[in-house]
Amino acid sequence: MTRRPFVGGNWKMNTDLESGTALASALATELKHGSDAIDVVVFPPYPYLQSVGRVIDGSSIALGAQDVSSEVNGPLTGEVSAEMLLDLGVKWVLVGHSERRHRLGEADSLVAEKFAMAIESGLSVVLCVGETLVQRTTGHAHKVVLDQLASAFECIPADALARVVIAYEPVWAIGTGVAATADDAEEAHGVIRGFIGSRYNSELASGIRIVYGGSVVPVNAKTIFAAPGVDGGLIGGASLKPTDFLSICSSAMIGIATG
Ligand code: PEP
Repeated sequence: MTRRPFVGGNWKMNTDLESGTALASALATELKHGSDAIDVVVFPPYPYLQSVGRVIDGSSIALGAQDVSSEVNGPLTGEVSAEMLLDLGVKWVLVGHSERRHRLGEADSLVAEKFAMAIESGLSVVLCVGETLVQRTTGHAHKVVLDQLASAFECIPADALARVVIAYEPVWAIGTGVAATADDAEEAHGVIRGFIGSRYNSELASGIRIVYGGSVVPVNAKTIFAAPGVDGGLIGGASLKPTDFLSICSSAMIGIATG
């Protein structure tokens, strides 16, 4: 089955109003027209969503948010609901990013609640999973990823999977400059696709998009994206540089077509 490549730019807690809109504008100028060839999504910080949304309006770039509340509304100081994000034109949310799991203490159960809330609200979701270095070196990488998936997908209906991208993001590769090899990514993506096959069915397993994240830069993107089962990337640091991000988007189209 052909899966459309997906590239997301996770800006994390970077940029300001001026540099964020300038970055969005540089991307929108190059990705002007709607394209069936690739999905490109930017995930700016919450305060800049509306401004960035205006800049990319009319381009082929979609707007994403880096998090979402598990609750509908109410006394939850600092939280942002799915409805609020939809109000601003947000189409995608990141759920389960390792920085939220490991630095901000989000448990699998909270990730699952956020995932279910986003899907119920009509948002599309990039669900991030991945093991730490210790988990990997002690031989637990696959089990960790499978446990994260089992918890996250517990309440997700089969007909929502078209709105889900899974990002395999080994924690040891995020922001470290040490990317996984194409073989590592291929193996992990195979495990993840196998999970979707057993949780749902083989058709959904071959249709779901699984992207790799962790120190993807222009020089390694094509090789990683050419690995079988890798459908694009979630990009952190390199998404802040327009030329690097655009080069990675091109590599996703080329690498996946030839991989
Ligand atoms: C990320 O934060 O999702 C990520 C992949 O970061 P980086 O590309 O900087 O490793």
